[in-house]
Amino acid sequence: MDLIELRSDTFTRPTPGMLQAMMNAHVGDDVFGEDPTVNELQTYTANLFGMEEALFCPSGTMTNQIAIMVHTRPGDEVICEALSHIYVYEGGGMARNSGVQPRLLPGDRGRISAAQVEEAINPDDVHRARTALVSLEHTANRGGGSCYNMNTLESIRALCYRHQLPLHLDGARIFNALQATGQNAAQLGSIFNSISVCLSKGLGAPVGSLLLGTSGFIKEARRCRKVMGGGMRQAGFLAAAGLYALKHQVLRLEEDHRHASILEKALHECRYVESVMPVETNIVIFNIKTPHTAADIAQKLLQQGIRVATTGPSQIRLVTHLDVTPAMIEKACAVIRRL
Ligand SMILES: *Cc1c(COP(=O)(O)O)cnc(C)c1O
Repeated sequence: MDLIELRSDTFTRPTPGMLQAMMNAHVGDDVFGEDPTVNELQTYTANLFGMEEALFCPSGTMTNQIAIMVHTRPGDEVICEALSHIYVYEGGGMARNSGVQPRLLPGDRGRISAAQVEEAINPDDVHRARTALVSLEHTANRGGGSCYNMNTLESIRALCYRHQLPLHLDGARIFNALQATGQNAAQLGSIFNSISVCLSKGLGAPVGSLLLGTSGFIKEARRCRKVMGGGMRQAGFLAAAGLYALKHQVLRLEEDHRHASILEKALHECRYVESVMPVETNIVIFNIKTPHTAADIAQKLLQQGIRVATTGPSQIRLVTHLDVTPAMIEKACAVIRRL
């Protein structure tokens, strides 16, 4: 039985067109800045967001960690949402790599407000950690793929400007956010000092993320990437996959979002489901009613060919992506309904 993989959008396999583009890539040594395909990917992405430069890195964890490293000094504080990826899923990286501590704010499905950020900025006082960075996640993973609206982003931008604080975006799923909200990339580029973009999620590339920012910022970021062991040599084979994804696999994210809403609707009809987070993009998070647990529902789904992720004792996450077909969604809904 072929399993329907809904644990994450990182399970995508390269499409035939993408593999062809990888095979045909022109490459060089990227640590010397001489891989033409990496350079093309960096320029293409920086231009898309209207930012000065971009840096190709092995993962989104690395692009986030480098951003934190460049924006802060040891002992500083980073303002972020309590369930944000940079805090929950990067192995304590900000403490380990940069010697900084998080200032965690409880969000509305992963999103924080300008008022919350303002309250969390420490005064200039020797007793207090220096607030050095604000980081947002758009879409917010643990928020069920929720999106920020432009007003909130603009008010946080204005606040950071007043306090001379850099503003970073963990945009692992930024193209899902753009698709769902109709915001445009250059608009977001004008709000943030740095943006991390993943190619290996719903865009379907096998590996890779980009960090975007000013030329000065990227110069420092390149140094950090080397220190972290993220300087790759003939990385153009991977960059070619990323370029292909950006040129051919962005518009289809709409289909993933449609699939996620179909799953949402099916879950609303189930007696074992307590609640479903409103679906905005390609992530569906729902809570299970007692006496059922997430683990036993996940096990029952697996027996019927559906792989899902548990994100808590009574919480399950489904993620749609380019290897999930309409027929698979139909089957998954049928299984979910009669469980
Ligand atoms: C996946 C993800 C990342 C980066 O993860 P890697 O696996 O290191 O590429 C960063 N932020 C969010 C919100 C993510 O979902």
